Amino acid sequence: MHQRTAGILSVGDELILGQTLDTNSRWLAQRLVDVGIMPLIHVTVPDTLEAQRDTLRSLASRVDVVVCSGGLGPTADDLTREALAGAMGTSLELDPVSLSQVEAWFVSRGRQMAPINRVQAMIPGGARAIPNLNGTAPGIHGAVGGCEVFCLPGPPREMMPMFESHVLPRLRPDPAAAITTRTIHTFGIGESDLAQRLGDLMNRDARPTVGTTASGGVVSIRIRLQGEAASEESARVLHECESRARAAAGVYAFGSGDETLASCIVRLLQETGSTVGTVESCTGGGLGAILTQVAGSSMVYAGGFTTYSNELKTRLAGVPESMFATGGPGAVSGACALALARGGVERLGVHHALAITGVAGPGGGSKEKPVGTVWISRASRDGTSDTRRFLFSGDRAFIRDLAAKSALAMLRLRLVGADAPLLREAERFTP
Ligand code: ATP
Repeated sequence: MHQRTAGILSVGDELILGQTLDTNSRWLAQRLVDVGIMPLIHVTVPDTLEAQRDTLRSLASRVDVVVCSGGLGPTADDLTREALAGAMGTSLELDPVSLSQVEAWFVSRGRQMAPINRVQAMIPGGARAIPNLNGTAPGIHGAVGGCEVFCLPGPPREMMPMFESHVLPRLRPDPAAAITTRTIHTFGIGESDLAQRLGDLMNRDARPTVGTTASGGVVSIRIRLQGEAASEESARVLHECESRARAAAGVYAFGSGDETLASCIVRLLQETGSTVGTVESCTGGGLGAILTQVAGSSMVYAGGFTTYSNELKTRLAGVPESMFATGGPGAVSGACALALARGGVERLGVHHALAITGVAGPGGGSKEKPVGTVWISRASRDGTSDTRRFLFSGDRAFIRDLAAKSALAMLRLRLVGADAPLLREAERFTP
């Protein structure tokens, strides 16, 4: 069976200059993979005729399908129409149907079409216009040699529906070549440790293929299977691989697909009918921010104290002043983290409180407490607690993010009734 291949072309100076993130390519690649077409190459080009035309030609000689986005607007720097005509060896012609659609789009919004928009109804001879239900620029379906080319508008809210309704049906989806993916997310274990646990599941010639990727402290296991997604055999093979991967990751696996550590915590708290509060120093409210990103968090997250100064640690969370006296444990200590968490449970009236206090840097470190030293404590209404020192490395933002996520991971361990060391954990505090 011939595996069909695709090239993805993004057009625009703002993409080249890094002013806009190219999210279209990512989305298009995923959708092509879903229907069994393998993206072979992604290219971004500026708004110049030669670059667009030559790239279209070179992609067309290498792949079966090219999907291009951007450059279909009405202004002088929108050159995709002309570039496609050049690559096809034809010239632009006015498409009366597209013209009436562009005019109708303006009328429906109570506006008059500017003469400049007429150019949007120009289509290379031999190509077909694709109607745009969400904007003015029609898409174009043409062919360069034996390669099918689809040119779509740049704005994602126009490009995506046009792809779904007019491009996908023409691509003749091939379920036998479709790639199904599953993702299992882990936190608290390093990528190489996880790879070791996964063992022969990660062999290059295994089916399905298993790989890992790390982002923001979360290490994800990616499972990919090529073949008839709906077939019983594929479903069985995928399920078996997923179960083995999950078992290998053990307690560190917290979710799959779109799940995040915070959404996992919110779900677990909802299931156990319990609430959480936060007392934050070096994360300055970042933990609360992560939790409240999750829809439905109001049912389980009461709120928190941001106790950046020692004075507020005492006033809001009830940490004894002696904690900060010369010769005392200090603000960045296990004793202080635990006192903050216990104060949180009591004063926020929650089942569990998470407290974070540390040195996020870049300044403020010392020999005993270098930058990256963070104490995190989880205390619960039932009197149990768990207080750990972490030594994170990275810049200020990364340290703060890892601290917030590690706090969530500690609460998760409590909620699933497990204990395990977390990555970068250096010491535990017992009162
Ligand atoms: P318009 O009619 O709006 O001018 P167009 O087809 O000419 O559409 P562009 O002018 O290239 O598209 O891009 C319009 C906007 O769409 C960009 O400013 C950007 O916000 C968004 N956009 C374009 N390409 C991409 C991309 N690859 N990824 C994400 N957003 C994009």
